[in-house]
Amino acid sequence: METRRLQAGNPADVICAGEILRAGGLVGIPTETVYGLAADALNGSAVAGIFRAKGRPMDNPLIVHISDLEQWRPLVQEIPENAKKLAEAFWPGPLTIILPKGDCIPDEVSAGLPTVAVRFPAHPAARAVIDAAGTPLAAPSGNLSGRPSPTTAPAMLADMDGRIDAVLDGGPCRVGVESTVISLATQPPRLLRPGGITLEQLREVLGEVEMDEAVLNPLKAGEHPASPGMKYKHYSPKANVIILDGTYDAYCRYVNSHQDGKTAALCYDGDEAHLEVPAVCYGGNEDYSQQAKEIFEALRKLDELGAETVYARCPEPEGVGLAVYNRLIRAAGFEVLHVE
Ligand code: AMP
Ligand code: MG
Repeated sequence: METRRLQAGNPADVICAGEILRAGGLVGIPTETVYGLAADALNGSAVAGIFRAKGRPMDNPLIVHISDLEQWRPLVQEIPENAKKLAEAFWPGPLTIILPKGDCIPDEVSAGLPTVAVRFPAHPAARAVIDAAGTPLAAPSGNLSGRPSPTTAPAMLADMDGRIDAVLDGGPCRVGVESTVISLATQPPRLLRPGGITLEQLREVLGEVEMDEAVLNPLKAGEHPASPGMKYKHYSPKANVIILDGTYDAYCRYVNSHQDGKTAALCYDGDEAHLEVPAVCYGGNEDYSQQAKEIFEALRKLDELGAETVYARCPEPEGVGLAVYNRLIRAAGFEVLHVE
């Protein structure tokens, strides 16, 4: 199939994206987090197309995107007080809220779970497309399953050209990592995936919020995660990524002792000054928001360099750094080496 290139700044293109979606097609859309692969969330066979295009396991549920609070009510059984508080504090924005699902949710969306994940994105183009489609949109990240999420239209096309009807180019994404996911279907509320809205911010609004084990740790054999997506290999470039834990000096010493033409560095801005292997930077040391914005594009660049082994610097798991840490530790398959 030919994948049409549409421009978010062109109102006729936004209408065209809406028409494709209403007719059951698949469109790549920009959001403030990452590019999503959208389909009509209330049309089970359209949603099944998302799983085919991504090669996504059918037991990994999707997030439903709305452009108006009124659209939320029928998607869930009820909207409890703590959900209203979160929506007031963080919507529109990079927060996904899980609640018991309403009757209109197709099984494909919830992957057989009794719950549904809903987000009200802030990106004007995402909202305009939902409005144009006239229906909530199911949209996971627009990458092939297992690969880094796309934060630009070209990155989305690199994975999806020829597999979907269109991509709407709205420029690079502001946040750069997928939305924070919180479940209100359990008591106390539980953080399933960290993102641009931090655990600290959620606790300010709700008081107690637990962090799911799978945010920081690999799953043990046979374990069923609260968020099915966590059990799959994720965010992986082709290279073997290894996180080095130690000082900047120790990092440089270790990396520079591996000048074999196959090794590259994933480091903070300025670190490259003392590195003697190809380096890709992803934001300043402790500038977690910039790191989040750049991490996926950096992983894709490392593939373009043809690196076989990548030694990465990794932030502290705090604030937005928790989201970066969560993505990077998965890209590295939880491989961390202490260096001195
Ligand atoms: P993606 O859209 O690629 O960011 O993936 C959506 C993420 O949200 C995956 O990790 C899913 O497992 C998770 N998710 C979606 N719906 C639910 C749900 N009802 N319960 C738990 N996790 C969910
Ligand atoms: Mg994804």
